[in-house]
Amino acid sequence: MTFVSDKVSSLPPYLFAAFQKKKLALEEQGVDVIDLGIGAPDLPAPDFVVEELAKAARIPANHRYATYSGSPLFREAVADFYKSHYSVDIDPNTEVLALIGSKEGISHLIQAVINPGDAVMVPDLSYPVYRSGVHLAGGEAIQLPLDKDNGYVPMFEKVAAVDLKRAKLMFLNYPSNPTAATVDLNTFMEAITIARGNNVLLAHDAAYDLITFNGYKAPSVMQVPDAKDHAVEFGSLSKSFNMTGWRIGYVVGNKEVIKALSTLKSNVDSSQFLPIQEAAAMALNSDLSAVEANCLIYTERMEKLHKALQEVGIDAEKPKGTIFMWAKVPSGYSSSAFANKLLDEAGVIVTPGTAFGPSGEGFFRIALSVPMERLEEVIDRLKQLDLKGLTT
Ligand SMILES: *Cc1c(COP(=O)(O)O)cnc(C)c1O
Repeated sequence: MTFVSDKVSSLPPYLFAAFQKKKLALEEQGVDVIDLGIGAPDLPAPDFVVEELAKAARIPANHRYATYSGSPLFREAVADFYKSHYSVDIDPNTEVLALIGSKEGISHLIQAVINPGDAVMVPDLSYPVYRSGVHLAGGEAIQLPLDKDNGYVPMFEKVAAVDLKRAKLMFLNYPSNPTAATVDLNTFMEAITIARGNNVLLAHDAAYDLITFNGYKAPSVMQVPDAKDHAVEFGSLSKSFNMTGWRIGYVVGNKEVIKALSTLKSNVDSSQFLPIQEAAAMALNSDLSAVEANCLIYTERMEKLHKALQEVGIDAEKPKGTIFMWAKVPSGYSSSAFANKLLDEAGVIVTPGTAFGPSGEGFFRIALSVPMERLEEVIDRLKQLDLKGLTT
C-alpha cells in the first residue's frame, strides 16, 4: 500500500541527489567541495531590479492576485523586448503569458498540448524537464538525435517518418543546456518546416538567449516567417539576470497554445507576485548592460577553464553561449565513473553527460558558476589528478 501515484513513483531518479549526498558526506570529513554541477548563476540580480522589487512591494495594491495571464506591464515588456531585440511583433494581450519560471511553463505546456499516449520529440541531450514533463503528462518521448560532429543541431533525417508524423510536440533549446551548442536562424527555419509539414508544435526553450559570448547573438524562433503558426518560445530571467529564485519567465507565440496553457494554469496557480513581474519588466526593458557584464564574466571563466582543460588533455569546445562547458571524459572512463573520480579525488562536482540523455555517455557538463578564484582551485586540482583511464 502506498499513497504515491505510479506517475510519481516511476519518475526517473533525480540524478543530482546522489552527488549532493556524497558532497555532504565529504564536507563532513572536512573536504572543500567545489560544485560545478548545478546550473545556476552564482552572481546576484542587478541592483536596479532589486530596487524596483522593493519599491513595488511597498504598494499595497500590488499585494493582490495578478491577472492569470500576468500583469499587463510585464506582458508589454516581453513584447517590447521581442521588438527591440529581435525585431519581432508579439501581441502582449494574446501572444504572451507570464510564467512562474519557464520550468513550470514547460511542464504545464506539455499537459496543455498532448493527450496521454501522444508522442513528443525530445533532443537526446536536453534539460531533463522535457522528458519528465512528457512522463507526467502520460506521453511518450521520442529521441531527436543530436551529434557532436554536427554541432548538435537536430537531425530530423534520423527520426523515422512514422515518428515524425505521430509526434505532436517537439522541443529544442539553443543556446543549449547541456551541450552549450548554438545555432543560426537556418536551424530554426528547418525546424519550422518540419513542424509545418508534420503538424507538430515546436516549443523552443530560450533560457540562455542573452548569455552569449564574443559577438555571437542568438536568434529567436519567432524571427522565422509565420513561426507563430507552429511554435511557442520560452524565455526566462533566471540566467540572464541572475534571478533563478525569483521564479519569473514567459512564453510567447501561438495564440491558441498560449490560451490553452493559460486556461490550464488558471486551474493550478494564480500567476506570479506583481512586484516580481514589475521588476522583471524593468530588467527586460533595460539596456541589457547588466547582462553584458555577466556575459563578460562567463567569457573570462570559460576561456580560463578551456585553456586548462586543453593542458590536461580534456577535449572541450569553446562555447558561444550558456553558463556551461561540455567536455569529453578522458578515455577509459564512463561518464559516471569520471564524475565520481572527480568528486572522490579532487572534491569537484560535475554532471555526467548521461543525466541529459543516452548520447551523453562519454561526456560531462561543467557549470561556470563559481568565482575565478574557485575556478583556479579547480584547475589546480585537475592538474594534480591522474587522468589515465581505469580500464585501458
Ligand atoms: C535553467 C533552465 C530553465 C529553467 O529556468 P526557470 O525560468 O528558472 O524555470 C529552463 N530551460 C533550461 C534549458 C534551463 O537550463
